Amino acid sequence: MSEQANPFESLQEQIDDAAEYIDASDDVLERLKHPERVLETNLSVEMDDGSIEVFKAFRSQFNGDRGPYKGGIRYHPNVSRDEVKALSGWMVYKTAVVDIPYGGGKGGIVIDPDEYSEAELERITRSFATELRPFIGVDRDIPAPDVNTGQREMNWIKDTYETLENTTAPGVITGKALDSGGSEGRVEATGRSTMLTAREAFDYLDKEMKDATVAVQGYGNAGWIAAKLLENLGAKIVAVSDSSGAVYNSEGLHARDVKDHKNETGSVVGYAGADEEFGNDDLLTLDVDLLVPAALENAIDDELAREVQADVIAEAANGPLTPEADDVLTERGVHVFPDILANAGGVTVSYFEWVQNRQRFHWSEERVNDELESVIVNAFDDLTSAYEEHDLPNFRTAAYVVALQRVIDAYEEGGNWP
Ligand code: GLU
Repeated sequence: MSEQANPFESLQEQIDDAAEYIDASDDVLERLKHPERVLETNLSVEMDDGSIEVFKAFRSQFNGDRGPYKGGIRYHPNVSRDEVKALSGWMVYKTAVVDIPYGGGKGGIVIDPDEYSEAELERITRSFATELRPFIGVDRDIPAPDVNTGQREMNWIKDTYETLENTTAPGVITGKALDSGGSEGRVEATGRSTMLTAREAFDYLDKEMKDATVAVQGYGNAGWIAAKLLENLGAKIVAVSDSSGAVYNSEGLHARDVKDHKNETGSVVGYAGADEEFGNDDLLTLDVDLLVPAALENAIDDELAREVQADVIAEAANGPLTPEADDVLTERGVHVFPDILANAGGVTVSYFEWVQNRQRFHWSEERVNDELESVIVNAFDDLTSAYEEHDLPNFRTAAYVVALQRVIDAYEEGGNWP
């Protein structure tokens, strides 16, 4: 893992790369390379033993030209101002590439949630929600889950917001539990978009998904669901990993069994159906048809990129490749299908959840999955059309060309005031 790459600089580079192919003035571009505002706050929270601990937390609202700011909240020790800024910028281009009416935002708390009790996490989350209250809202900024947060945290934030505002406003946050106004299909949505992107990519590249070999780095919600759904398409999941290491079986692992093992023991390592175990970097350089990085940023730097043997990469994580790794992979003819498409299912079903909340209506899981499929397939087609039309170097640039044009159009049509 590269320690050097600053994700915020990576984002700015990706925007510059795409800007070469569209007609955008430098001043408009400059505006699209910086967040509109960033909240930085220090949460003082009482621990179970009566002591007070202080947690740094952020919410970046990057751009709202196409709609309310939208994006998750992560709990991780590596959360930083620049990371949150980058992640919020990626959300702008993600919501634009799938053409849902949102801008981009992201938040995070610098914390290792494993070190705190549930009661402490609840107080920390409610304290953050209290700080966020003036900045968020159904039509203003709509948080959601991200790394190490899920339905439980979303429900706490919704409850805090509604209590303080003396109202009901389920659409202020997405990724809630079903009983609190959540949507069918939301938990699986990120991994589902990775599967759909990989399926469309294989079709586009004339590659067979049946018996295709797949390696998945990261076995959290996105990675494991992607593995399960790719397995359903007939692919062979030969290797998966988490932060403790990787497990491998050339005949294929059973995605669900590995997940059960991880639930029981805390890791994929030690899974009885594996015939080899190795480190994460070895998984990333396996000779497979499809590689799915589903962990954190900067998993593959330029050095590792030179060793990658996969034909296709579908990014389930946000920002798993450094820009230098991207250049190396483009040069080497590895087809990378970018995060802003391949994991956009999460925010797309968040959008469906918000629509259902606004209408006080509940969609079936079948409807959610069908609508998600058409959003991802349409976005894939827009991306490949741009790739061919502009003769672009890779699919990431194509995704940014499509997305950047949409954001610029919204800005230019809306004007700038004052
Ligand atoms: N955290 C997810 C992402 O990075 C989902 C965001 C959302 O649902 O708003 O796309």
